[in-house]
Amino acid sequence: MMRLGVIADDFTGATDIAGFLVANGLRTVQLNGVPPADLQVQADAVVISLKSRSCPVEDAVSQSLASLDWLRARGCPQFFFKYCSTFDSTPRGNIGPVTDALLDALGEDFTVICPVLPVNGRTIYNGYLFVNGVPLEESGMRHHPVTPMTDSNLMRLMDAQSRGKTGNVPSTIMDEGPEAVRAALADLRARGFRYAVLDALNDAHLVVMGQAVSEMKLVTGGSGLADGMARAWAGTADAAAAAAEGRPAKGRAVVISGSCSQMTNAQVAAYRDAAPSLAVSVERCMSDPAYADELADWVLAQPRNGLAPLVYATMPPEKVKELQDRYGAAEVSEAVEGVFGRLAKRLEEAGFDQFIVAGGETSGVVTQSLGIGGFHIGPQIAPGVPWVRAVGRPLSLALKSGNFGQERFFFEAQDLAA
Ligand code: ADP
Repeated sequence: MMRLGVIADDFTGATDIAGFLVANGLRTVQLNGVPPADLQVQADAVVISLKSRSCPVEDAVSQSLASLDWLRARGCPQFFFKYCSTFDSTPRGNIGPVTDALLDALGEDFTVICPVLPVNGRTIYNGYLFVNGVPLEESGMRHHPVTPMTDSNLMRLMDAQSRGKTGNVPSTIMDEGPEAVRAALADLRARGFRYAVLDALNDAHLVVMGQAVSEMKLVTGGSGLADGMARAWAGTADAAAAAAEGRPAKGRAVVISGSCSQMTNAQVAAYRDAAPSLAVSVERCMSDPAYADELADWVLAQPRNGLAPLVYATMPPEKVKELQDRYGAAEVSEAVEGVFGRLAKRLEEAGFDQFIVAGGETSGVVTQSLGIGGFHIGPQIAPGVPWVRAVGRPLSLALKSGNFGQERFFFEAQDLAA
């Protein structure tokens, strides 16, 4: 039965929170965009990833409300509005307006604000947000191109973009335990506050707040809060069982690498000599419309047993720069991504059912080209990189952004699938 519905304001944020939920024993499905009305999923937690962080306020509100409706129609009892742990927003939104709209739709008048993730250095003290020990406004976020954060005080930030007043539950109360936190929340609410920023300096505070808000209809914040809540619910939950539906069945695999990061270069170097491998010609990606078919034919001609064939555009930075200088960075990216998208589609049609993909953008293109609207989160190959299985289709993916994983990542992904 569905226990928690998460509305996340971007894709990586969705993946991030989904990972914490699975690790705490919740069977979790991630859906990309507002799900279609006829889609049914079986899961303890559903994470809907939107692109609502910096779109116009009205769009963020309407997408979030549509997601809420979808979740409620499936009996979901509790909701989590997930935003970035650096509170990426402006005085216009979108965190405040979306929170207000969700509260209204649920008939609620109070929620918590908690963009924390202590393991990643996101902490809150007296309502001030810190990034690796420095106030938010002194971190790199000060110069963010879309949502520059020039204040670290979460009460002021929330007040400026919402309809209500924001209070704080300080860390001294977190130290006292869940009962004290619940009492502090009730007190703030009685005094007319609509939102409460929860302090959190460490893992123990996540556990306390998780227990304190474990029954709240709507909460808002970062993955740290979700971790605390899921731990409060977990009981004897089994993380391996929770990941089972995302586990790949034995199948036919290919490795597609479009990342040129340092780690991916090392991963390709470690794999290239052990497995059938083919380096993509960037020039031909740009000039030859039949190139993807030729690459697919090569993959199909490789032996079925043994390591999965690798097709890679991965190159060291100086070669990438040379190509970009000659052809234009956007043009090269678009051409290579287009070829990988078509290659993935061709291979799927030919019976391939496991795609191990390196590169964030490249992963997006492959997912889109295969028409995957959502997936079950499976076992972790490396921190932040799980196997996932498409909802309703026997298709598994390992989607790795640039610097994730260790050198033997491509081997490890296949070992897990064996
Ligand atoms: P990462 O996660 O490492 O950033 P991405 O897939 O997000 O990887 O981005 C890599 C980008 O570089 C993609 O747009 C890809 O098509 C492009 N690319 C891949 N190979 C080359 C290459 N040899 N030269 C230039 N660009 C490349």
